[in-house]
Amino acid sequence: HTPRGLPLRVENLRKEFGGITAVDGATFSVEAGSLTGLIGPNGAGKSTTFNCITGVHDPTAGHVYFQGEEITGLRPDQIANRGLVRTFQIARELHDMTVLENVMLAPRGQVGESLVRSVLPGLRREVVEQERELHERAWETLEFFEIDHLAFEFAGNLSGGQRKLLEMARVLMTDPEMVLLDEPLAGVNPTLERKLLGRVHDLREDGYTFLLVEHDMDVIMNNCEHIIVMHQGKVLAEGEAADIRNNEQVVEAYLGE
Ligand code: ADP
Ligand code: MG
Repeated sequence: HTPRGLPLRVENLRKEFGGITAVDGATFSVEAGSLTGLIGPNGAGKSTTFNCITGVHDPTAGHVYFQGEEITGLRPDQIANRGLVRTFQIARELHDMTVLENVMLAPRGQVGESLVRSVLPGLRREVVEQERELHERAWETLEFFEIDHLAFEFAGNLSGGQRKLLEMARVLMTDPEMVLLDEPLAGVNPTLERKLLGRVHDLREDGYTFLLVEHDMDVIMNNCEHIIVMHQGKVLAEGEAADIRNNEQVVEAYLGE
């Protein structure tokens, strides 16, 4: 996996909801192959920024570029097809499917063409080969996240933490360039938290790019080489952990909670 150029650039991003300005002119970049953290107190505009990047919300103003191309206002599936993906909670309909089925379905949900193929698979050699490769990749992915022992368990029966690992496995099956994670550790026990962060580090070393949105400053400080701090819809500070830790404005923003 070889990261290319500057994957993500957000310019003067603005999002208003009625009278509320959730994002107020945020500008930042995420470098290829980095694990970048986006932190800020509750209500800072982190999730809204995330939703504008991934096409869930249409920004009121501003631009989002991915790998040098403008993606502002594209649909979430169009953005995902370009390799910029986010984790999604496992949808209700998928609770009655096994963990293995969930992982095998993930790439088809994102790419229209292969959806057609999965409806009409036929038995041509290339189709059978593709199915076998998909199957192998699904198992490798489950092993990587250490949930292969749960392959035939229904997704609905997993614990909160196991479900987060499955969400990550599904994202990885789409063969992304960059992964956005919005509070992936919420409600996850310390053992699974270590496992999840460990896998993120492994993948980063393999050349994947991550933007990790987190409320907990310590998690970001201990794991991210580059940190962006948002406050009241704006980028308040940016830099390495040491810079951020000693930044008076950042400390104040968190104390004000
Ligand atoms: P964070 O993720 O940093 O906690 P959010 O992006 O969720 O912050 O929220 C930023 C601000 O925008 C908050 O004041 C929040 O209440 C508001 N907000 C977020 N989403 C909506 C929405 N769909 N409708 C109205 N206001 C919203
Ligand atoms: Mg949020």
